Amino acid sequence: MRVTFAGVGEAFDENLPNTSILVESGTSSILLDCGFSAPGPVWKLGDRAGRLDAIFVSHFHADHYFGIPALLARFAEEGRKERLTILGPTGIEGRVRRLLEMAYSNILAKAGFDVYFLECTPGDEFKHAGFNFAFAMGDHLMPCLALRLTADGKSLLYSGDGRPTDSTRKLARGCDFIIHEAYALNRGVPGHGTVEAALAFAAESGARACALIHMDRAVRHAKKDEIMGHIASLSGLHGFLPEPGDTFDV
Ligand SMILES: [Zn+2]
Ligand SMILES: [Zn+2]
Repeated sequence: MRVTFAGVGEAFDENLPNTSILVESGTSSILLDCGFSAPGPVWKLGDRAGRLDAIFVSHFHADHYFGIPALLARFAEEGRKERLTILGPTGIEGRVRRLLEMAYSNILAKAGFDVYFLECTPGDEFKHAGFNFAFAMGDHLMPCLALRLTADGKSLLYSGDGRPTDSTRKLARGCDFIIHEAYALNRGVPGHGTVEAALAFAAESGARACALIHMDRAVRHAKKDEIMGHIASLSGLHGFLPEPGDTFDV
């Protein structure tokens, strides 16, 4: 699996676009979250973004799914014919249809491709579009699904927003790569993780690498040295702060 970080930021970072991650395996690809500032950086990935099979929405905060109308409108403009799957928590179809209607009224009726919605709940496991999917609930301000994706014999876990829970720890066990939100450095923020907790979560899972994403803009920009020092003190785990456009082979 190849992971490309289109965006790595939190909701309101003026420098880093919302977290949005392209995962590719063979000819299959899925975008993990697509917030309001994500479409531009996703389009910069060129054809690879144009060939998307699926979009996964971890939860219904705007920095995780309000970019979908722009993405779909450009697909329609470019003459896409292939079906697109949109996966997300309970209510995904109604939410996205309402959003599309407000943004570009009637776009799905006019588009030359079908959209297939797949509602996911914690504990679900299935195969779709070339990937194995499994889900668990994180501890966020609203229900948020952590996703375990498996392909080519490798697994990654994407936390979405939120602190680790017993369920997400269980889901992460044996994963090769962890992508975890680390909104705060070490101080607890309700419904959000920390750098320390994310790295401990990854170490406990047995993963060899951990990408820290969705970091509070003040922490990411002012405390980078401290964060890198913390990462450097770890042994056996490669922790890093991806930049937009970075790739990682799992
Ligand atoms: Zn959120
Ligand atoms: Zn968020």
